[in-house]
This record gives sequence, C-alpha cells and structure tokens, in this order.
Amino acid sequence: MKRVLITGAAGFLGSHLCDRFLKEGYFVIGMDNLITGDLKNIEHLFKEKNFEFYHHDVSKFVFVPGQLDYILHFASPASPIDYLKIPIQTLKVGSLGTHNLLGLARVKNARILVASTSEVYGDPLVHPQHEDYWGHVNPIGPRGVYDEAKRFQEAITMAYHTFHGVETRIVRIFNTYGPRMRLNDGRVLPAFIGQALRGEDLTIFGDGSQTRSFCYVDDLVEGIYRLLLSDYHLPVNIGNPDEITIRDFAEEIIRLTGTNQKVVNHPLPQDDPKQRQPDITRAREVLGWEPGIDRSEGLRRTYEYFRGLSPEELRNSAHRFA
Ligand code: NAD
Ligand code: UDP
Repeated sequence: MKRVLITGAAGFLGSHLCDRFLKEGYFVIGMDNLITGDLKNIEHLFKEKNFEFYHHDVSKFVFVPGQLDYILHFASPASPIDYLKIPIQTLKVGSLGTHNLLGLARVKNARILVASTSEVYGDPLVHPQHEDYWGHVNPIGPRGVYDEAKRFQEAITMAYHTFHGVETRIVRIFNTYGPRMRLNDGRVLPAFIGQALRGEDLTIFGDGSQTRSFCYVDDLVEGIYRLLLSDYHLPVNIGNPDEITIRDFAEEIIRLTGTNQKVVNHPLPQDDPKQRQPDITRAREVLGWEPGIDRSEGLRRTYEYFRGLSPEELRNSAHRFA
C-alpha cells in the first residue's frame, strides 16, 4: 500500500485531498498545526484504518516513521486576511516548512508535490497568465509575505530537483472554492455567502471591476492527482479560466441565496490583483485535464454546504484573528 503525507490536512484543500487519496486506496498521514484549519474538516476520517493524524508545525523539523511514497505540501495560510494577520508564520511555512519537507522527501525517496499559487504572478501585466510569465510582485507589500514565500518555495523545490534529484511537482493553484472553506477566512466566496446568510450587506472591495476565475474544488483535486502521478516537474497552472468581475460575482451570490441585501463598497486592499485568469494550455496538454464543473453547479453545491451550518457557527463567523 502506498503511503502519502498531506500537510495542511485539516484545511480546505488538504481535507479534500485526504478524502481523495483514501478513496484511491492510499494510506494517508495528515499533518496540521490547526492555525487556520479545523479538525471538523477531517473528523470523519479518524475512524478510517488507513488514516493517521499528526498535530505538528511543519516549520519545525518533521519526522514521520516508516515508508513514504508521496508528500503533498499544502500547509500555509491561504487567505489574504489570514496571511496579513500571521505574516511571519506564512513566510516560515513557505520557506522553512518547504525545506523540511523536501529534506524528508529526499531521505524517504518520496515524490513531493508543493502547492504554489497564482499569486506568484502578483498583479499580473500579462493576461491570461501562462506558466512562462515571471510575474509582477511587490516583495515588501502586504501580500509579499505570501507571494515571496511561495516564489521561494518554487525556487527551493526546483533546486532539490536539480541538485539532489528529488522527484518534484509544482502546482500553481488559482482561486478555488467549495465546501469546508472557513466562513470567516475572508476570501470572497465565504465572505459573500456568510454575509447573505447573516443578513448583512455584501462588501465589495474597490469598485468590483477586478476579476477572478473560480475553480470548483473537485476539479482542482483531479488536476493535482494527475500532476502527482505524471512525470512533469515544471509548474502547472490548475484553475478554471471562466473569468468574472467581483461585482458580477456578488450579483450571482445575491441571486443564488435570494437575499434582499445590497452591495456596499469598501476600500480596495493594497496590491489587490486587478485581473486573474489561468492559461491552462499546459494542463490540457500534459495532464489531459480541464475543469468539468461550471460555476453555477459549483456554487449550488457550495451554498448547500454553508446552508447546513448551525446558527451558532454562523454567528461566530467573524474573522478569527480579528
Ligand atoms: P486553509 O487555510 O484552509 O488550509 C491550510 C492548512 O494549513 C490549515 O489547516 C492550517 O492549519 C495548516 N497550516 C498552516 N501553517 C502550518 C504549519 N506551519 N504547520 C502545519 N500546518 C499548517 O487553506 P487552503 O485554501 O486549503 O490552502 C491550502 C494550500 O493551497 C496552501 O498552501 C495555499 O497556499 C494553496 N492555495 C490555495 C488556493 C485556494 O484557492 N484555496 C489558491 C492558491 C494556493
Ligand atoms: N473581495 C471583496 N469583498 C470581500 C472579500 C474579497 O470584494 O469581502 C475581493 C478582493 O479584494 C479580491 C477578490 O475579491 O479582489 C478575491 O479576493 P480573495 O481574498 O477571495 O482572493 P485573492 O485576492 O487572493 O484572489
């Protein structure tokens, strides 16, 4: 039986990856320090005989006994308001944490896939973003702690590949959504749905003309699974190219939830990217992958999940580092 270590296992994406690898017949070792994650996301897995969990900060030395075939490094705050509140931890998990996991991959002779991000393109001057674009990042701006940690992560991953012959994979993830996002994580989809459910106005940052392209989580997980098992070591964008302005997205959420609330404009955060759309030519060619779940279906499934939360969870959904 193949053994896979998934860091960030109690988070949004990590928990879905645990589900997928268990379903594929792997022994899954989840690791998380719960700084932005929640054990609730994986509590259904504790009864599985092929699942183990370590409560551990991967920025510190990582030890896992026994054989390891694959490592998926997904530990990192991912929402702008998370990494603004915990900037040093964000820098450490992308740099020291990645270094620890590459070292572990090397001694275990395991293949490692690291979770990079569309943020390596910064506020992009090229549109849509292809993997060959080097990006437009402000290293000392508020988002620099995340963007530069992820850029360092890519650099050290390539160095371990080149100098130590470690089998590495790099996925550049574009905005992904779905069940188990934290209602209070500040990202636009849980923010809007949470506001609609609590009967608050929807907060658009800036004039809402900035764009994003939203990918449903099951599509992303499929792309990551294919990339891990491929023999391709250069970065691959995984995301849904269907681009929308944040203003139109707010209108979609209003229609979806049937809320009577209005939208209100708040100041645009510094360095907020104005446009973002993945060029997925490489994923199509190398992995034969493309997204299959459109936004209306993905939003319907996600809303079902949020609607099922208890009134107490809804009330307590102010941001946790506030
Ligand atoms: P999340 O906050 O839900 O999950 C991250 C998990 O990592 C949390 O459970 C958190 O507790 C854990 N973690 C953070 N620091 C840790 C540390 N030092 N040691 C151990 N565990 C730690 O975020 P997510 O959306 O699931 O993102 C997961 C990964 O995917 C991140 O690396 C993120 O950068 C990347 N990513 C996500 C998106 C997206 O749209 N969701 C986009 C681009 C990249
Ligand atoms: N955004 C918004 N209102 C909110 C939260 C976010 O208008 O309550 C905007 C944000 O400024 C950005 C977009 O939505 O332009 C996506 O933000 P998110 O934090 O989800 O992700 P990222 O900026 O990392 O793509």
